[in-house]
Amino acid sequence: MIKKNISIAIDGPSASGKSTIAKILAEKLNFIYIDTGAMYRAFTLGCINNGIDCTNEEECCKLIGKIMIGFNEKNHVTLNGIDVEKEIRGNKVADNVSYIASYKDIRLELVNQQRLLAQNNDVVMDGRDIGTYVLQDADVKFFQIADVEERAKRRYKENLEKGIETSYEECLENLKKRDYIDSHREFCPLRPAKDSIEINTTNLGINEVSDMLIALLKSKGIERR
Ligand code: C5P
Repeated sequence: MIKKNISIAIDGPSASGKSTIAKILAEKLNFIYIDTGAMYRAFTLGCINNGIDCTNEEECCKLIGKIMIGFNEKNHVTLNGIDVEKEIRGNKVADNVSYIASYKDIRLELVNQQRLLAQNNDVVMDGRDIGTYVLQDADVKFFQIADVEERAKRRYKENLEKGIETSYEECLENLKKRDYIDSHREFCPLRPAKDSIEINTTNLGINEVSDMLIALLKSKGIERR
C-alpha cells in the first residue's frame, strides 16, 4: 500500500525558533525540511541584485518567472541555481523581505512551489501562512511564539555566530517591523490556524521544545518513516 505523504506546518513570528525546531523534527522523522522564509528572502535578493526598489510592487512582480528559486542537495536555497543561503541572512534582505512577501502575485508563485514539494514528500514546512493557506490540510499544525525581546536576543546571537554585523537594537527593531507588516498584510497575514497547537518557547530550550513536539506527534501516530 502506498503511504500518504505527511505534512507538518510550523508557523509563527520571525525568530521564534521555527527553523531550528523544524530542522530537528525533519531529521528525527526522516522528512524533508522546507524553509519558506528562505524562498521569500531569495526573491528579495533577486530584486536587490537587479537594482529594483523592493517597495515597488509592480517592478518586483516583473521578476516572476524570470528568477528561479529552489533548494540544492544541501537543502540550501538557490537563486538562479546559485547557493545564496548566507547572502539572504544579511540586513539588506531582512529589511526588505516583508515588502516582497506582501505582494500577492509573488506569494502565489512561491506557494505553488511549496505545495508541489509537499505533494511529493513528507515535509516539515515552516513559515507564516503554512497552516492557514499553503497546507490547510496539514496533518499537524504548530504555531510557535516567543516574546519579542527573547526573539531579538536569539537573532542577535545567531547573527554574531554567522559573522553578520548587527546590534541587539537593530534586531529588535527589524523583528518588530516585520511582525507588524507580516500580521497586517491583506493576503495571507501571519495568524494561527484555528486547528493549530500554540507553543510558547520564551522560557524553553531547544531540546525541551523538540522533545515535546516529538512526543505530541507520536501521540498522533506520526513517527520516523
Ligand atoms: O522565516 P523568515 O524570518 O526567514 O522569513 C522572512 C520573511 O519572509 C518574513 O518576515 C515574512 O515577511 C516572509 N514570509 C512569509 N510567509 C512565509 C514565510 C516567510 O510572508 N510562509
